Amino acid sequence: MSIIDQIIEQYPLEEANKIKQAHALAVEAHEGQMRESGEPYISHPENVALILAQMNMDCDAVCAALLHDVVEDTQHTQEEITEKFGANVSEIVRGVTKLNKIQFASKEDAQAENLRKMFLAMSHDIRVILVKLADRLHNMKTLGSCEESKQRRIAKETLDIYAPLANRLGIYQIKWRLEDLCLQYLEPEAYTYIHSAINEGREDRQRVIEEIIQIIDRKLVENGIPAKIYGRPKHYYSVYRKMRQQGSDSIDNIYDLSAVRIIVSDVRYCYEALGIMHSEFIPMPGRFKDYIAMPKANMYQSLHTTVIGKNGKPFEIQIRTEEMHNTAENGIAAHWKYKEGKTGGLTKGEEKLSWLRKMMDFETEAKDSAEFLDVVKTELFNDEVFVFTPKGDVKGLPMGATPLDFAYSVHSSIGHRCIGAKINGKIVNIDTKLKNGDIIEILTASETAGHGPSRDWLNIVHTNEAKSKIKAWFKKELREENIEKGRDMLDKEAKRQGYALSSLTKPEWLNPIFKKYKIQSMEDLYASVGYGGLRVHQILPRLVEEYKKVIKAQEIEDKPKEQKKREHSTNGVIVKGESNMLVRFAKCCSPVPGDDIVGYITRGRGVSVHRRDCSNLSGFEHEREIEVCWDLDADTNYVANIQMHTYDRSGIILELSNCIYSHKSDIESLNVSTKEGTGTITVGVRITSAQQLDSIIKDFKKIQGIYEVYRLNN
Ligand code: MN
Repeated sequence: MSIIDQIIEQYPLEEANKIKQAHALAVEAHEGQMRESGEPYISHPENVALILAQMNMDCDAVCAALLHDVVEDTQHTQEEITEKFGANVSEIVRGVTKLNKIQFASKEDAQAENLRKMFLAMSHDIRVILVKLADRLHNMKTLGSCEESKQRRIAKETLDIYAPLANRLGIYQIKWRLEDLCLQYLEPEAYTYIHSAINEGREDRQRVIEEIIQIIDRKLVENGIPAKIYGRPKHYYSVYRKMRQQGSDSIDNIYDLSAVRIIVSDVRYCYEALGIMHSEFIPMPGRFKDYIAMPKANMYQSLHTTVIGKNGKPFEIQIRTEEMHNTAENGIAAHWKYKEGKTGGLTKGEEKLSWLRKMMDFETEAKDSAEFLDVVKTELFNDEVFVFTPKGDVKGLPMGATPLDFAYSVHSSIGHRCIGAKINGKIVNIDTKLKNGDIIEILTASETAGHGPSRDWLNIVHTNEAKSKIKAWFKKELREENIEKGRDMLDKEAKRQGYALSSLTKPEWLNPIFKKYKIQSMEDLYASVGYGGLRVHQILPRLVEEYKKVIKAQEIEDKPKEQKKREHSTNGVIVKGESNMLVRFAKCCSPVPGDDIVGYITRGRGVSVHRRDCSNLSGFEHEREIEVCWDLDADTNYVANIQMHTYDRSGIILELSNCIYSHKSDIESLNVSTKEGTGTITVGVRITSAQQLDSIIKDFKKIQGIYEVYRLNN
């Protein structure tokens, strides 16, 4: 069957005719043109259209795919497309053509993210992106005939921009195809290795998988759960990523090369099937993920678990419904699925809308499928505009931003010295609204000219960043005056309360205040108070409080020691009915005050104190347990071990120790290990109560870069 016949197969006659018409125009337009591979050019739009048809995209998207290179590369005009195929098709073609003009050169991560956003912002209709993704997929598939340097450039761009976009939109079947193709060109050796390593053991694995599938099938049938079960090949790129994560160059340690997918008809069966799997096979701890209760940002839903097979080898099981599966494969495109006898091709508009809205953070209300299409046609990031610096970096600014905002976003000094701007090479007013894709050049006065912002600028700029930088400039002009004024205000208020300002301004008390208000020096503090950025009552009471604490601590130290000692308590624990028992804390669970605890009488080594939830207790003789409680008056401290997982970021340790210090605690031990951009930190902290421990853990969680924190039991 010819490609065009495969494409039109699933569309009703009227639509099939429209597609055939688009095809005929494309054939005629590209007549005589060749691809680099030597094939006739028409094979490219045909294959792009086929990819979209296989994703069940609507007729207009398929027509646009056939015509996507016609306006750019041939005599035909945009008007002609509109006339023959309607505004929808024409707009999609226009969008794709516009995107082709932007060089998405590979950049560092932050830039890549901006480029992806700009890409979305420039595609008013999401079908533009879908056509573009299919276009890229086919270009990647046919990259073999290009020069090596071009192959690498295209593959790098695909890996940086297009594969993450497909992922963002939840279109996994395009995402993994792109990734695997990129691997082939970017890491040919790794690709060849993985390819052959996977294929070597294929028959063995195939047999094992088939046995597993039989077992699963039998179990599910026994439990009356109708399901489709199949083995799932791992994609090369995900194997490659795992190898990199493990720092290994062999697939031997990738234990779940085998995977099984179970598709059921209803959500409740997902969980039932999971339960059956976990009773049939031993689950691997820490490998269960419930993306049904907590879908990924791109709305991916599924249950994942890894279990140990009968042969002792682990394998992954994914369980999901038919609908979840469709969303997982096709993402946003799943919702253009063609439905027989219905034009527009959307199913259950409202439900799908909520899907999209959640995914894209839409606020728009829309009630039926016609409106649904409208929503999708509006800009996806309609509150942001993306523009280029003359060097080709992308900057994201809020919609309505002007060249002045741009200037300030580059650097305050560029903003302050701005005397004009060029957009796309033409001089413009500094209050011109920026548009997506504009290239902005700022004209500045020389550093020595003494040029500064004018007060009017506050009415022109749109971003808070620019506003506050302009205000800061005026503030600085009056700085000397403000320092004087601020010092005076604080001094007066301190005296009024009976303190000398100099006795309150200890650096260790000031540091948290500096940090909180992002102040560098005492002068800054005075200046802030002087111009009213900070109030006296935001500063002074804190300092007075610290001062009082020190006085109090001194008083306690002067008290006679015997008042503090209590007879029954040892190490801060009272053993009920006993005194002078030797008390030790169990190493297995390191209890701290506030924890529910229980004593255990050891042979000859006194009482060891465990947390009541310590798993070791169950193995002990019950008769040896003895009641214990915390002596709340004792001032003893304890060590609790906290473990956390982090992204590798400089400064984390410093922030950690500052945090511990701010809780009046100390570090007892510290262990740090990093691997492939992530780190594990274990810190032993001296603490006096479980509440203190909780609040330390809570603050750890706030530190940027730390994504998991928990108390260790040992
Ligand atoms: Mn193309």
